[in-house]
Amino acid sequence: MLDPTRFVTQIRAWASDLGFSQIGVASIDLSSAEPGLLEWLSQGFHGDMHYMAAHGLKRARPAELVPGTVSVITARMDYLPRDTPAGWQAVEWSRLERPTEGTVSAYARGRDYHKVLRQRLQKLADQMRQVLEQAPAPSSFQEPFAYRVFTDSAPVLEVELATRSGLGWRGKHTLALNRQGGSMFFLGEIFVNLALPVTAPVSVHCGQCQACITACPTGAIVAPYRLDARRCISYLTIEHAGPIPEDLRPLIGNRIYGCDDCQLACPWNKYAQTSTVPDFDAREAMSWVSLIQAMKTSEEDFLRLTEGSAIRRIGHERWLRNVAVALGNALAHPLHASEAQAIRQSLQERLIHPSDLVREHVQWALAQDH
Ligand code: SF4
Ligand code: SF4
Repeated sequence: MLDPTRFVTQIRAWASDLGFSQIGVASIDLSSAEPGLLEWLSQGFHGDMHYMAAHGLKRARPAELVPGTVSVITARMDYLPRDTPAGWQAVEWSRLERPTEGTVSAYARGRDYHKVLRQRLQKLADQMRQVLEQAPAPSSFQEPFAYRVFTDSAPVLEVELATRSGLGWRGKHTLALNRQGGSMFFLGEIFVNLALPVTAPVSVHCGQCQACITACPTGAIVAPYRLDARRCISYLTIEHAGPIPEDLRPLIGNRIYGCDDCQLACPWNKYAQTSTVPDFDAREAMSWVSLIQAMKTSEEDFLRLTEGSAIRRIGHERWLRNVAVALGNALAHPLHASEAQAIRQSLQERLIHPSDLVREHVQWALAQDH
């Protein structure tokens, strides 16, 4: 007879071989998270991520989202590229000081994590199924085995599930944080119809620290543990489809896809681990780009260069919008005359772009010229 506790131990070993750093098991009763979720939504902090509101309380009720779910296996996977140097935070801060070069959030420099995690969670579930098909299962395991994998999926309260199952605690920046791994990891889940022993949460270690709140360029962390996504650069450059609010544009600097500042500032990220999988190794073409080149990139080249990358998800139009904001911010800096002229020219070439969104951001960028 399969023992649930030993089964979880087995799952952990498989997961480790698949590149996961930690596995937990959460129960499906997230009812105590419902008031906070409703309040966050009622304040409009989700911006135009309407899908978050559309799923309503299903997000906090795994058995409503996937009927038959009894437990959630939670997983985290470190994503810093394997060649990340010691003191990488200083390297990242210095990137933000180079106005003519664009920065892409560290997590997006390699292969699209959605694909990497989904495939590996799927493999993990396949291994579980093979064992479940061979050994007699306890009565707390429903048959046949049913599951569904998620990663960075809107209907799932990922951080809530992760923190309840001991993968870390929720930092004041609202991300999960781990004593051995900082916050530079992805989360994924497998909803299963098996009653597995839940893992205990860990204690919170933010203490009096406010570093993430202070570091946030746009003041998006409006209070500890409370993020106004409408002000968050990650949201504005990735999720948000329309114009970027003008008052926030100068604060975005050269960040063209996501933002890591709250994580760079977090003292726990001195313990962030490099990934064991090669998929997250940075692709040179997209991790560190000349803004002028980025503005000149055709849609065809954008699609080719971002093949298999999460960046592709935002599409060429949003890419140009983001790059225009960064170029406008560059023009606001003292630059060599030739450099400023090259920026102006790259922007002017986009003044005839068919998209209103792109043209408006390009016009704004040109107006930042001093
Ligand atoms: S990702 Fe950037 S903008 Fe968003 S909360 Fe963190 S520091 Fe602020
Ligand atoms: S920076 Fe400080 S307050 Fe923010 S998540 Fe890290 S430890 Fe917590």
